[in-house]
Amino acid sequence: MASNFETVKDRIRKAEQRAGRPAGAVTLVAISKVHGPDVIEPVLEAGHRVFGENRVQEAQAKWPALRERFCDVELHLVGPLQTNKVKDAVAIFDVIETVDRPKLARALAREFEKQGVRRDCFIQINTGEEPQKAGALPAEADDFIRFCRDDLNLPLVGLMCIPPVDEEPALHFALLRKIAERNGLEQLSMGMSGDFETAIELGATHVRLGTAVFGARPAR
Ligand SMILES: *Cc1c(COP(=O)(O)O)cnc(C)c1O
Repeated sequence: MASNFETVKDRIRKAEQRAGRPAGAVTLVAISKVHGPDVIEPVLEAGHRVFGENRVQEAQAKWPALRERFCDVELHLVGPLQTNKVKDAVAIFDVIETVDRPKLARALAREFEKQGVRRDCFIQINTGEEPQKAGALPAEADDFIRFCRDDLNLPLVGLMCIPPVDEEPALHFALLRKIAERNGLEQLSMGMSGDFETAIELGATHVRLGTAVFGARPAR
């Protein structure tokens, strides 16, 4: 695992160079969903600290013990969030990448207030307008961003997308970037194991890599 990790870091560095971006411009979010501590620990021991999970309950089961040994971990939520899990999500995650609807945005704002904390938020955009996929539609993005930032005062840092599997990801990355730029948002979470170099070329600040770091995921 640690060798996968070194290879991936190297590929990120080279992609940054090719894109004329400074070294370290891109943050690797190692997506550890499904994997157990035995697979995650070598990457922690290699010095990595930014991880992502897509389920609140799974993160609660795995990360408190790991955090006792690696206290400076930064954990990102990259999966859909139901409002009844907002309290738990805010307690365990440092970054919420999947703010996608007004009801969730309101619940997060309330929970930050209640717990006296703030968590960096990304808005997820459904760039492919896929009915089964979460995310605000591109046409609604500007209004939703304004609502989150101005009406709710959420700590909004950027946008996130998951392109359709059967389409050219570059088109979706370019669209995400355009929406971010016209709204003055600086961070772009885009790019997974199959397309992260393209994403870096198009301005990704965060790439979310599971398979490339940890190998194939076992069945749940
Ligand atoms: C699982 C997952 C990833 C990582 O996918 P890989 O193809 O294994 O790199 C990235 N983003 C999200 C939202 C995911 O659920």
